[in-house]
Amino acid sequence: ERMDIGAILRNVVEQFEHSLEDKQMTLELRANGTYYSMINPIIEEIFANFISNAIKYSPEGALITIDIVDTNYYWKVNVTDSGEGIPDDVKELIFDRFKRVNKKGVKGTGLGLAIVKRIAEIVESEVGVEDNPEGQGSRFWINLKKAYNNTDQTVPEDTLTQESLPPKSLRQ
Ligand code: ATP
Ligand code: MG
Repeated sequence: ERMDIGAILRNVVEQFEHSLEDKQMTLELRANGTYYSMINPIIEEIFANFISNAIKYSPEGALITIDIVDTNYYWKVNVTDSGEGIPDDVKELIFDRFKRVNKKGVKGTGLGLAIVKRIAEIVESEVGVEDNPEGQGSRFWINLKKAYNNTDQTVPEDTLTQESLPPKSLRQ
């Protein structure tokens, strides 16, 4: 289905209004435009998990930002928090079932990110985590691949090899 990533994000963020209020947090969604793509609405679950974690593992009053980076081949959605961050040696492991670190009394089953990884595989997207490049905390990201036959995407032909181009009938 052809959907607007910005609208999906706004919808998910709305569901966290109360949890954000409870912790006096601000969530800044930097996605005012439309980002149409053939997208499986199941990616809502990925955004919801990232946001839920950002809230859970950040202190009261913290700032969470979400932004969309448009590249030729995918949209990268970043969920950046200013929480406790994730030690380098467990960055890969937290996507495994039941792996939890820095719990500090925060409840959870350790399944959220395992589900995220599974859904990402299904929609052929890549997910990952890095340090917050602007300061303390972490940044979880997902690359949402643009489909070749999506009429709204822009893939400059000169950056592609002939083999990787879609059939003539699918080009505009
Ligand atoms: P569940 O999501 O099942 O309720 P959970 O939040 O513990 O439980 P995951 O979402 O899979 O499980 O996250 C795994 C672990 O990764 C967490 O327990 C936490 O240690 C760490 N983690 C996840 N997101 C963040 C974050 N934004 N900041 C710091 N640590 C995080
Ligand atoms: Mg979680």
